[in-house]
Amino acid sequence: MRAVYLDHNATTRIDPVVVEAMLPFLGESFGNPSSHHAFGEAAFSAVRKARRQVQTLIGAANDSEIVFTSGGTESDNTALLSALAALAPRNEIIVSAVEHPAVLALCERLEAEGRAGVHRIPVDRCGRIDVAAYEHALCERTAVVSFMWANNETGTLFPVETLAEKAKAAGALFHTDAVQAAGRVPIRAEETAISMMSLSAHKIAGPKGIGALYVRSETPFYPLILGGRQERNRRGGTENVPAIVGFGEAAERAASRLESEARRMKALRDRLEQGLLGTVPGARVNGDPTARLANTCNIAFEDVDGDGLLALLAREGIACSSGSACSAGSMQPSHVLQAMAVPASHLGGAVRFSLGRDNDDSDIDHVLAVLPPLVMRLRQPAGARKVARAG
Ligand code: PLP
Repeated sequence: MRAVYLDHNATTRIDPVVVEAMLPFLGESFGNPSSHHAFGEAAFSAVRKARRQVQTLIGAANDSEIVFTSGGTESDNTALLSALAALAPRNEIIVSAVEHPAVLALCERLEAEGRAGVHRIPVDRCGRIDVAAYEHALCERTAVVSFMWANNETGTLFPVETLAEKAKAAGALFHTDAVQAAGRVPIRAEETAISMMSLSAHKIAGPKGIGALYVRSETPFYPLILGGRQERNRRGGTENVPAIVGFGEAAERAASRLESEARRMKALRDRLEQGLLGTVPGARVNGDPTARLANTCNIAFEDVDGDGLLALLAREGIACSSGSACSAGSMQPSHVLQAMAVPASHLGGAVRFSLGRDNDDSDIDHVLAVLPPLVMRLRQPAGARKVARAG
């Protein structure tokens, strides 16, 4: 059966060139970057090269601003906790209502333990941030603002550069979760007022379990993981050298293809979107019509069970994800779509298609041929469905 992978916001296939780059560090180049001999020095310079590759991807001023972590989740946690510690007695956090759970779950915990007050800024029906509500929440108690660059479910882009300026003017730190944005939209960290930025390798054809936190020079910083003096005292623990090397290679490749891939993704994405909107009555796109990642299409089908549709698509070899999250053992509509006030008729029928390097026109043709009849089938009353299947 033909396999069509359209779930690149969940993770991506590691690039074979990235694997090639990593292999020596899983074999003969096994040194510890902290060791003062040839083995250690080889590992040290490989890590330094990767740090520069990641620096270049996000346009940071200095490679010392890149701290390698275990991924986006650790980077998000580190940024918020560090900011709270560094800016005490300021103890308020501002986030959007549509952040990744790596930010929202931590905020819930901090709130429950009485360690921070949290303002969750609403979004409109297109997923755009309510700037007036943000400005209203910003005050002399704000320690950190955390707004994602690109939303993982809808692809909606926040204007983080201007949002960061406002935080800076209020004396607060500004963190952005750029896990979905880095490698997909141009980023010039040096030219912004962003204090910290989370990155993850596995969204850009790198390995899993490795990421980075950009920490702008002069930003006060408290490490989350205490131990040795690695990462200039900002993250204890022997570096995961093969993964770091893979991240660096993936970052370099993503940077070199960014513009051409974005153009290609947009053409494929728009064809998919127009095709589905044109053939499936009651379909609607969730997300900002213009300020959106080129690879992401979140589309909701009226009166359809999205998870049922996903299962039928999976049987046809099409891999994508639904707009629901497993919570306490049952499927709940996504907090992102709820925050966007997606109507009840569409909330359960959302599907996210996220495109990537391996996709081409034939994948889109396949989805456009397979999906519309499946939606019609799911919309039939249960009795009629059985008859249709028997036929
Ligand atoms: N932030 C966003 C926006 C994400 O999409 C993800 C992963 O899905 C993460 C954070 C977590 O990244 P990681 O899987 O590297 O921990």
